[in-house]
Order: sequence, then C-alpha cells, then structure tokens
Amino acid sequence: MSGNKSTGRVAVITGASSGIGAATARALAADGYLVALLARRLDRIEAIASEIGNGSIAIQADVTDRDQLVAAARRVQDELGGADVLVNNAGVMLLGPFSAARSEDYRRMVEANLLGAITTTEVFLDQLTGGDGGDLINISSVAGRSARAGNGVYAATKWGINGWSESLRQELLPGVRVTLIEPGVVDTELPSHITDTATREAVQKSYDVAAVKPEEVAEIIAFVLSRPRHLAINEVLIRPADQLG
Ligand code: NDP
Repeated sequence: MSGNKSTGRVAVITGASSGIGAATARALAADGYLVALLARRLDRIEAIASEIGNGSIAIQADVTDRDQLVAAARRVQDELGGADVLVNNAGVMLLGPFSAARSEDYRRMVEANLLGAITTTEVFLDQLTGGDGGDLINISSVAGRSARAGNGVYAATKWGINGWSESLRQELLPGVRVTLIEPGVVDTELPSHITDTATREAVQKSYDVAAVKPEEVAEIIAFVLSRPRHLAINEVLIRPADQLG
C-alpha cells in the first residue's frame, strides 16, 4: 500500500498480471503512482489492484487487439485523468529451433512483443505528451542486443523494440523520456509458455540456476522514473551477476 505518498502521476503497465509487470505495479504504487494494470487475466490484475490500492484500476486488455487498447485508454483518461507513464511490458518468449511447426509462436511473439508495444504507445501517445512530462518504459531484453540459436524470432522482436525505442526517444524529447530496460534472466513464468518441450525444459533449468527477481527489475524502473525531469536514463541492461551471454 502506498499510504499518503501520492504523486498524482498515473502509470499504465501492460502485462501487469505476473512477473516484472506485477512487481512494477507494486513498486510504482508504493511510490505514490495511480496505477492502471492491463493484462488478459482479469482475475489476477483485479487481485493485485485491490492489494495495492491507492486508486489503482484493473483493465482487461490484449495488446494485440487495438480496440481493447483504445477502450483501455479511454478508461485511463476518464477514471485517472490520463497516463503520465506507460510501461510496455507485455510479452511472450516462445523459444525453440526455427521451424514451420512453430509459425503460430512467431506470429504471437511479433504481435504481442513488438506490434503490441507499438500499438499501445500510439494509443496512449496523446496522454503521454499532453501532461507536464511523460515517461515511456519499453521492456526489451538481453536478447535485444545479442542472438543465439533457438531465439531468432524472440530476438527479432526485442531488436525491433530497441530500434523503435531509440527513434521515439529522439522524436519525443524533451517532453517524454524514453527508457529501454534490457533484463537478462528474471525469475518469472515467462519460460513456462514455451511450446517446444525440450526447449522449455532446458530454459527452465537455466532459469532455476540463476535469475534476478522481478522485484529487483521493478526497483530499477522505479529509480529511473524518480530522476529529476532534466535527466533521462535511456538504457539499462540488467543481468544476474553470473549470466554469461
Ligand atoms: P510473465 O510471463 O510473468 O509476464 C508476461 C506478461 O505479459 C503477463 O502479465 C501476461 O499477462 C502479459 N501478456 C502476454 N501476452 C499478452 C497479450 N497478448 N496482451 C496482454 N498481455 C499479455 O513474464 P515476464 O514478467 O518475465 O515478462 C515481462 C516482459 O519482460 C516481457 O516482455 C519479456 O519478454 C521481458 N523479459 C523477461 C525476461 C525474463 O527472464 N523473465 C528477460 C528479458 C525480458 P496475461 O497472460 O494475463 O495477458
């Protein structure tokens, strides 16, 4: 609970039902933000919103559905007065050897991770630029800076986020600060959705060995947002200290 620390600022977080998004919702609420939690699993975001209080709201929205995002933006405007911060966090990591058998995985990753972030941003852009200083946080990955066998399309979505983010940073300054967050292994449910069984088991094992906590990533996001408006932290790469690549 954030108690009486309210900043009056409004943060919209996609993929807020678990992992980094849920932890970020809690961290920003504790810093006094009014938080709008977006995700498809309404029961989860409703539970988190009621736990963190401070006027937080839960809005069911699939980032691959523009109409749902437009409706979400309308609710954020009407109920919270508009977004000052947008955290583009929703994503899936459906790793595995490149194969026609996984064409559906590729479509889902591009639609959620890349197009989802782009669509959410264009839908909320007027709100971010319309206040007294906005912040756009894009959750990329170490996979946005490197690539390895088996992560090609996931890496493509994150490399895409990086290029798009840098372009937006230049277009939106100085009113909106744009920050790219690039986590390494973070202990969340992300690997559990991998459809290729052998890959899922191998990735899960590596996650069990070394991972930072989602709360540790959320703390860094909260720190980035807490800097005075003349200072922008545009890129943060975060790995477990013993992660090699
Ligand atoms: P989780 O699986 O815990 O969280 C992913 C979130 O994305 C969930 O809240 C899920 O909510 C949401 N989501 C997925 N698809 C959609 C969709 N179509 N529309 C709306 N929401 C969606 O994993 P993480 O917390 O780890 O992942 C968060 C971000 O961090 C992702 O972008 C991921 O790529 C990135 N990342 C994670 C790393 C890690 O090691 N964990 C490392 C580097 C980057 P719901 O299913 O309810 O819709």
